[in-house]
Amino acid sequence: MGYRELEIEFSIHTSHLAHHTSMFNGGIIMNKKTIKDIDVKNKKILVRCDFNVPQNKETGEITDNRRIKAALPTIQYLLENNAKVILCSHLGRPKGEVNPKYSLKPVAEELSKLLGKEVKLAKDVIGTDAKELTSNIKEGEIVLLENVRFHAEEEKNDAGFAKELASMAQIYVNDAFGTSHRAHGSTAGVADYLPAVSGFLIEKELEFLGGALENPKKPFIAILGGAKVSDKIGVIENLIEKVDTLIIGGGMAYTFFKAKGLNIGTSICEEDKIDLAKSLLEKAEDKGVKLLLPVDNKVAKEFSNEAEYIEVSSEEIPDGYMGMDIGAKTIENFKEVLKDAKTVVWNGPLGVFEFDKFAQGTNEVAKILGNLDAITIIGGGDSAAAIEKMGLADKMTHISTGGGASLEFLEGKTLPGIACLENK
Ligand code: AMP
Repeated sequence: MGYRELEIEFSIHTSHLAHHTSMFNGGIIMNKKTIKDIDVKNKKILVRCDFNVPQNKETGEITDNRRIKAALPTIQYLLENNAKVILCSHLGRPKGEVNPKYSLKPVAEELSKLLGKEVKLAKDVIGTDAKELTSNIKEGEIVLLENVRFHAEEEKNDAGFAKELASMAQIYVNDAFGTSHRAHGSTAGVADYLPAVSGFLIEKELEFLGGALENPKKPFIAILGGAKVSDKIGVIENLIEKVDTLIIGGGMAYTFFKAKGLNIGTSICEEDKIDLAKSLLEKAEDKGVKLLLPVDNKVAKEFSNEAEYIEVSSEEIPDGYMGMDIGAKTIENFKEVLKDAKTVVWNGPLGVFEFDKFAQGTNEVAKILGNLDAITIIGGGDSAAAIEKMGLADKMTHISTGGGASLEFLEGKTLPGIACLENK
């Protein structure tokens, strides 16, 4: 699939994609077969989706249907090509037991509304109802199996469970990027028994995340924020080999400040990671990678939205104050460096963005990225949430649908749900 087609198929998050199309030219990661590489006509296709949607706790109503919408291109393609579509997903954490609270019924209803087509919900996953519905399924029909996590075997990647799932279909399609870092029955195990390919959503994730790692247009800049260095070590270590500039902000910057011998007051710091931060600073220098830290900070005496703050240089954080956000000079510095970037990957907020008072750094960086003439890729999670909240999603090239999965991908790890797919 070309990038232009992708742009049409994925209306979400891809508005200024077209003029970047020639940048990523394939590679090992992107070499996975997709549903376009196989004949799906008349075939029973088991599609693992990520329908783990947020719901109203009392009513069960779906409060954000974006994950369901994101699965539509794959489902529609299969329907248009006369496949028999069998969908499966997890929802929440039913801990291996049948629990109506986690039923996929609201998902079946929402999907049916979005497609304008009946979606039959099986009462079970691999039981008699699922078997009956899937054995009678016709071309162009859709059956949704119940929550795969109603079986403890799912998360254990039990071979018997995966085999039962596989027995209902002829081809397996993984389109659940958000769970592809987990080796579960429906995300990987089932591929032992069926030919396995990716859906369009995973294809898109691989093209952008994979493209940035394998063949980025330079200058390539990564922006990493968030609370802890420990969560991002793998990403920093992998990206330091690939980027021209690494921008570090958020809570984890203070461990780096400490490593540089600066006073950080009561800022969040991982004492046991100070040596590691030192060695990362040295590694960046050895590799000629520019590592940018905040030059100034909004600091406050308490961790609260009501806290009075002062803005101080990174050399002058007073005792009793903690860093809550990057300061104005830092935003300007980051803007100056980012203006020449051709590929940017961003993961993690640059301050305590949950508090409006300390969301400015994160929001300003989001705006800067929105105005760049560059490929802008946002790892899932908090930075994606900040961008959605700002209404800037359409300005980014790609917003990953998987928080944990995109982090592991950026760490250079093999994701089981992707490794199990056939190569082209
Ligand atoms: P992560 O999940 O590691 O990406 O971290 C996200 C969290 O980092 C958010 O909840 C932010 O509030 C938090 N964070 C960002 N900057 C700071 C900071 N300066 N001090 C404490 N927490 C921060």
